[in-house]
This record gives sequence, C-alpha cells and structure tokens, in this order.
Amino acid sequence: MTASPVISPAIRSERERSLLASVPTGLLINGEWRDASDGGTFDVHDPATGEVLATLASATSADAIAALDAADAAQASWARTAPRVRAEILRRAFDLVTERIEDFALLMTLEMGKPLAEARGEVTYGAEFLRWFSEETVRDYGRYLTTPEGKNKILVQHKPVGPCLLITPWNFPLAMATRKVAPAVAAGCTMVLKPAKLTPLTAQLFAQMMREAGLPAGVLNVVASSSASGISGPLLKDSRLRKVSFTGSTPVGKRLMADAARNVLRTSMELGGNAPFIVFEDADIDAAVEGAMAAKMRNMGEACTAANRFLVHEAIAQEFTRKFASAMGALVIGGGTDPSAQVGPLIDAGARDDAHNLVTAAVDAGAVVLTGGNRVAGPGYFYQPTVLADVPNNAVILSQEIFGPVAPVTTFTTEQGAIKLANASEYGLAAYLYSKDFNRLLRVAEQIEFGMVGFNAGVISNAAAPFGGVKQSGLGREGGSEGIAEYTTTQYIGMTDPYAR
Ligand code: NAD
Repeated sequence: MTASPVISPAIRSERERSLLASVPTGLLINGEWRDASDGGTFDVHDPATGEVLATLASATSADAIAALDAADAAQASWARTAPRVRAEILRRAFDLVTERIEDFALLMTLEMGKPLAEARGEVTYGAEFLRWFSEETVRDYGRYLTTPEGKNKILVQHKPVGPCLLITPWNFPLAMATRKVAPAVAAGCTMVLKPAKLTPLTAQLFAQMMREAGLPAGVLNVVASSSASGISGPLLKDSRLRKVSFTGSTPVGKRLMADAARNVLRTSMELGGNAPFIVFEDADIDAAVEGAMAAKMRNMGEACTAANRFLVHEAIAQEFTRKFASAMGALVIGGGTDPSAQVGPLIDAGARDDAHNLVTAAVDAGAVVLTGGNRVAGPGYFYQPTVLADVPNNAVILSQEIFGPVAPVTTFTTEQGAIKLANASEYGLAAYLYSKDFNRLLRVAEQIEFGMVGFNAGVISNAAAPFGGVKQSGLGREGGSEGIAEYTTTQYIGMTDPYAR
C-alpha cells in the first residue's frame, strides 16, 4: 500500500452531525416511521473513514409484509387519483429535493464516498426524474380505433400495474431511487422500496421529502434492512405484489427473476455492464481523453455505465494512453467532503481489494502499469487511479465489471476487429465511440450490441433518455417516455360499433 498525504482526518463538523441527526432512522410503513418488529438495527458507515454515521431500523420479513399490506391497501384509491394530482406531488418533490441540494449532496458523500461536486451532480440528475415524470404523468395516452373489417371498435388504455417492490444499489443512492419511485408515482402504483444497506440514508431523507410533497400514506413504504433476501423472499411469494424493479448486479438480478417467475411478476432489471470505450484512429484524441476521464472516473468507476475496456486503434494508442495516464495520475485522492478531492474512497474494503486483485492478475498476464496500481493506506478504502497498457485480450479484467478507478487499455487494427472485441461480452449496457466520422459512428452503433451508445460523449445518462441494457445487462428501460410504461399494464376493450354495417 502507498501512503497519501491528502486524505483529511475524520472530523465530523457540526453541520454534518445535525444533518445526520435529521435523517429518519425508522422504517416508513403506511406513512409512519417505526422501529423494526424485532427491534433490530444495522449501522451505516463512512467509507472515507470507516466510522459509523447512523444506526437504522433493520426491517424483518414481517415488516416487509406490513409494508406490502400498506401498499396494497393504498393501491385502489391511489390508482384513481387524478393524474394532475400525482404530477403536482412529483413537481413539489422536485422543488423540495432541489432546495435541499446541499443536504442531499453531503449525505450522499458521507455514506457513499463520492466527492461533493459529483454528489451535487447526482442530486440534479436524480431530481430531474421527479420533474420529468411529473410531466409524463398527464401524457400517458391510450388509443381508440376501428377494427380492419370495420365492424368493431378497439379501445386501449393503460392502468397501473399494482404494488411494486423497488430494490436499489448503493452506488447512486438518490438517482436509482427517483428513477423508480417517480415513474411508479406517475403511473399510479404503490410501492415498497428497499434501498441498499450500505447507503440507505439518502433514500430515507428522500422518502421524507415525498411525504412533505403530499404523497399519501401507504403509497411509498421504505424498508431498509441488513437482510435483502429477508425482504424480497416473502414479498416475491405474495400474490398481492405485481412487479419487481431491480437495479444491481447480474447474479442477484437472475435470482430475483427466478423468484419472480413463481407469480409471473412484471420485472424491470437494470443490471451490470462492461462498457467498451472505442477510440478510432480519426478521433480527436484530446476530446477522447476528456471523455475517457468522465466515462471512467464518474463515481470512482463504481457505475454500471463506467468504461471498463478501452479499445484504441493501434496508430494512436501510444498518444492516447500517455495523455490518459497523465490525466489519471494528476487526480487528487481524498475524503469526499474535502473540497480538493477528485477521487473518493471505494465503498468498502472488499470493493477496493477486488479492484486491486484484477490489476494484479492483469499485470501477471502481461499488462503494464502506467500510473497507479496500488491501494492507498487507510483509514478509508481508497485506490489509486490506474491505467494499464498492453492488456492481453483474454485478461480477466476485460470480462468483469471493475467497479473501481482502473482503466485497462488494449488495441485494435480494424473497425470490424473493434466491433468484435466490443461484442465479446455477456453484458450490453453502455458503449462509447470516439471518431470524427459520423457515418462510421452510426455504422458501428448498428453493429454493436448495447442498449446505450455515446458518440464523442463520456456521460450519456439523462432523465429524458431510455436507460437500459441488452443481453445480461437487463430488461426494461428507465427514464424517457419508456420509463412510465414499465409501471403500467395495457387493457384492451373490444366493442361492437353500433354504426357499422
Ligand atoms: P447488488 O446486486 O449486490 O445489490 C443491489 C441491491 O440488491 C441492494 O439493495 C442489495 O441489498 C439487494 N440484494 C442483494 N442480494 C439480494 C437478494 N438475494 N435478494 C434481494 N435483494 C438483494 O449490487 P450492488 O453492489 O448494490 O450494486 C452494484 C451493481 O449494480 C453493479 O453490478 C452495477 O453494474 C449494477 N448497477 C446497474 C445499474 C443499471 O442501471 N443497469 C445502475 C447502477 C448499478
């Protein structure tokens, strides 16, 4: 391990203490914050220091069922609420979250580790789902048409799918919650939200904002827990639940899909990624380096959309890699609340060690470390921004999600070769292409198997865009006009046309 002089000492400011004290620590069931039925709790830690930030109620299976009781009881009346009423609740929630951007950002930095500037970016991005779906609420159109032979009429309408289980990961504690809660509210669904146990505080504060925005009791219930399967297990068996929306790893997603099969539940699965970042020989190299920094280092690399494999044309590989390594090596590592910090800690010791093991295995396989390559001495779980060159195409680091600030670079010689390398993955979430030739960008996009493609852009997430993957990266889309459809079911009414001959 190497020492870093930039990590700030663990001094909890008065502001941090009062913010933490304001976060509800209970379970939100039927509009009330309550203790777990067995009195159990779990601790939430600061990954920059390892310190305990808060102790929350840990929901049991009985609490999960109580949350579904509340959601089920609220479903019928909530479904009948006027769309405009639902829209205005979401719009008020957008305003409330936006007014408290600094609180949400600080809370996220404390529990998740991302630097404050990035946390503010997530608040803006996460809040936008509330505004976007507030606008979508009143525009969920059906249709009315004549059957082809002219004898009957067809009426098509959308209805809320029913009570939903929403399970979110730790890496984007606000945005992953708003991306599910907002369209569910818009569609008229009630829900049970289970945030990740590593970063539940942001979701707790967000749920409080939803109540302040006027969301009726029972519509949103929140059950943080130290036992994820203790929540999902009984809920997926309960026939009142109609949908599960999950964001997290592919192995857990597969397990949930298998469990959801029992009651033939609707599922939305936002799973893992292994994004290729392809730099063609005609790319603007400086722009590609800037995009590579954004695509790799957002959230310290702990993002499903993180560039995981840098595929660079051999003619420009040396220049791109030199510039990229120099930019990565210049980043300042530090606790997220330190204003100079550009790279925060990874979420826990396991995540940091996993990243390091991938680096070590790549080096053993022949890769060369251009910058970084080491853990940083604690406290906290910091890893140096790392660039690896000459990574062999069969290295494990190219086939697994790295989820850390590590960039393996490999080269290609032809466009078809790049496409083949990009598609050689069971994942298909995001891909990034750099070239000045728009025809080439489109031609390559047509041939690669990814749900989202960036053209000369290192960040592509947007509330107005349909976010989601193909292959083992998942099913369904969040955001865009597609997002609300995940929470509605289609009913068709066929009727005799009284005027037909
Ligand atoms: P994870 O799969 O370990 O956990 C995700 C959520 O599932 C957490 O709330 C966790 O408590 C819960 N969970 C874990 N085991 C469970 C079980 N057996 N039953 C029910 N719930 C269970 O993932 P993570 O480590 O929190 O997040 C990182 C992963 O999420 C990465 O693979 C990343 O790519 C993926 N991710 C995907 C997207 C996307 O939109 N595609 C977005 C963010 C993260």
